[in-house]
Amino acid sequence: KNAELATWRGRPAATADGVGLKLMLNVGLALELPQLERTGADGIGLFRTEIAMLARSSVADVAEQADIYARVLDEAGDRPVLFRTLDLGADKLLPGTVTEEENPAMGWRSLRVGLDRPALLRRQLRALLLAAGGRDLSVMFPMVATASEFRTAKSLLLAEAKRIRPACGRMRIGTMLEVPALMWQLPELLRDVDFISVGSNDLLQFMFAADRGTPSLYDRYDFLSQPVLDLLEQLSVAAWSASVPVSLCGEAASRPLEALVLAALGITTLSMPASAVLPIKAMFAQVELKSFQPVLAAIRRGGGMGLRDPIATWARERGL
Ligand code: PEP
Ligand code: MG
Repeated sequence: KNAELATWRGRPAATADGVGLKLMLNVGLALELPQLERTGADGIGLFRTEIAMLARSSVADVAEQADIYARVLDEAGDRPVLFRTLDLGADKLLPGTVTEEENPAMGWRSLRVGLDRPALLRRQLRALLLAAGGRDLSVMFPMVATASEFRTAKSLLLAEAKRIRPACGRMRIGTMLEVPALMWQLPELLRDVDFISVGSNDLLQFMFAADRGTPSLYDRYDFLSQPVLDLLEQLSVAAWSASVPVSLCGEAASRPLEALVLAALGITTLSMPASAVLPIKAMFAQVELKSFQPVLAAIRRGGGMGLRDPIATWARERGL
C-alpha cells in the first residue's frame, strides 16, 4: 500500500476530470521540512511559527528567528511557504505567559497579543523579512476577528518592510479565517487581503461553541453539515469574485470526504499534515468532480447536520 502511494509523489495533484489541486503541508519545525520531498507536496500552506518557540520555551530573538525562517525558505526552494505569525495562548502557552482566564481559547491570545505588544510582533515580522532577503514572502495572521485588526497587523508588516534591505521579492499578506465574525466583514476584508486561509479547527470550535480539545464533543458537530458548507461556499464565491485565493489548513483538509467536498465548493488548495498528502492525492485522482458536484448539491438540499452518510455512500460506491 505504501509503495503504491509513493508512486503518486511525483505526479501533480488533479481529479480524474482534470481539476488541478494544490496539496500543501502544515509544519512547525525545520526538521519536518524533508517531508516536502518525501510527499511531493506543492509547498507549505501553514508554517506554525509558535511551535519552535514552544520547543525552546521562549520567543527567540530577531536573529535566531530569522535563522529558523531562512532555513525553511532554503529548504522549500521554489515552493511557496505561508508563514503564520505567533499563535500563542489558549492551548499554546509559554512559561511566564500564563494568564488567568476562564476561556483561554477566546481570550488574550494569538494576534491579540501581537497587537497589544506590537514590539513582539514587529520583531517577528522583521525576522521574516530578514529571512526572505530578496526572496518572496507570504505572511498570514491568526485569529483575526475584525477587518481592522487585519489592517493594523498589515500596516506593521509594511512599516517593517520599508526599513529592511534588501527588500523582499513579492510580498503577500493574508489572514486566517477562524473567527466566524469575519464572514460578515468580507467586502471590507477582501479589499485588503492577498489571500485567505481557513483554519477549520478553530472555525468549527467557534461556530458550534464546542471546545476543540474536548473528546466527548468530537462526534457531536460535523464538518459535513449545512452550516459549515454554507459558510465555505459563501466564502469561496465572495473570494472568487474578488480574485482572492482561498485555501484551508485545518485538520479537515486531511480527511478524504472533507477534501472532496472542499474541492467541489471551489477550495482546491488544501494544507495538511504530511501523512495525508499522498492518500488525498490518490483519492482525488479517482474522482470525477463534475459528477460529484450535482450529487453534493442534491444532498445539501436536504439540509441539516447529517450530510456525511450520503456523501460517504457516494464515495464508497466508487471505491474511494
Ligand atoms: C486551525 O485553527 O484550523 C489551524 C489550522 O490552526 P491551529 O490548529 O494551529 O489553531
Ligand atoms: Mg487556529
